[in-house]
Amino acid sequence: METAAIVQVANLEKTYRLGNITVQALRGVNFTLYQAEFVVITGPSGSGKTTLLNIIGTLDKPSAGTVTIDGEEITGMKDGQLTKLRRHKIGFVFQFHNLIPVLTALENVELPLLTAGMKPKPAKERAGLMLERVGLRERLTHLPDELSGGEQQRVAIARALANHPKIILADEPTGDLDTKTGAEVVQIMYESAKKENASVLVVTHDPVVADRAEKLFEMRDGNITRSSQQRPREAFRLRAIEPVPPEPARSLSQPN
Ligand code: ADP
Ligand code: MG
Repeated sequence: METAAIVQVANLEKTYRLGNITVQALRGVNFTLYQAEFVVITGPSGSGKTTLLNIIGTLDKPSAGTVTIDGEEITGMKDGQLTKLRRHKIGFVFQFHNLIPVLTALENVELPLLTAGMKPKPAKERAGLMLERVGLRERLTHLPDELSGGEQQRVAIARALANHPKIILADEPTGDLDTKTGAEVVQIMYESAKKENASVLVVTHDPVVADRAEKLFEMRDGNITRSSQQRPREAFRLRAIEPVPPEPARSLSQPN
């Protein structure tokens, strides 16, 4: 069976107007993302990566061209339909994880499931499973503040994948991390997306991420200028996700 196209972008244009200045952020982009592949678009700052990702993610609208997600043309959809599509088919991972600071790791992952209409018990179970998969079994009740940058991004990945989306969209997911932690986070995103059979599209200028791509594209001045050949599978070997160790017991006499 041929692999299905999950995202199809055709002749996509985006023009921003600021007073009498116009910026053409996208100049006729054509791009296809297939099922369960891990694709990276790299390119310098200002080349249009975030604009493209936000339009595919239905967070922004194009000036011209079409976006088809899982067989549905989204360009003419109403906001309500878009919200529904986003909630059920797309998971996001951003540079700054956007976790809710007053909710625990578990609650942060549960929340989108409850919003999508899942019952509390299965939502909690699913959230726990996803956090375990990203190696955070020992951090379920931690608040975002009590987690390292890499751990926060692991929570964001678990949250993005929790509702069985077909697509994960990630914008500079390693932008705030050191090289080693960044590599771990990309690995975890790759592994957990494969487990869920989700496609991943990452936009980044981080070479560590580009290095992990199954397919690598480059963006320049609002256009996808070239793509590398598909890399051999063994370029990114599956390996077990390293769980974080339990924390030492917290001191009872907290300084205040
Ligand atoms: P990248 O993510 O590759 O750094 P962006 O998609 O953020 O690129 O930006 C592409 C171009 O569009 C840049 O020239 C940027 O200044 C411009 N741009 C992005 N967002 C806006 C906006 N909301 N209003 C005006 N111009 C914007
Ligand atoms: Mg950007």
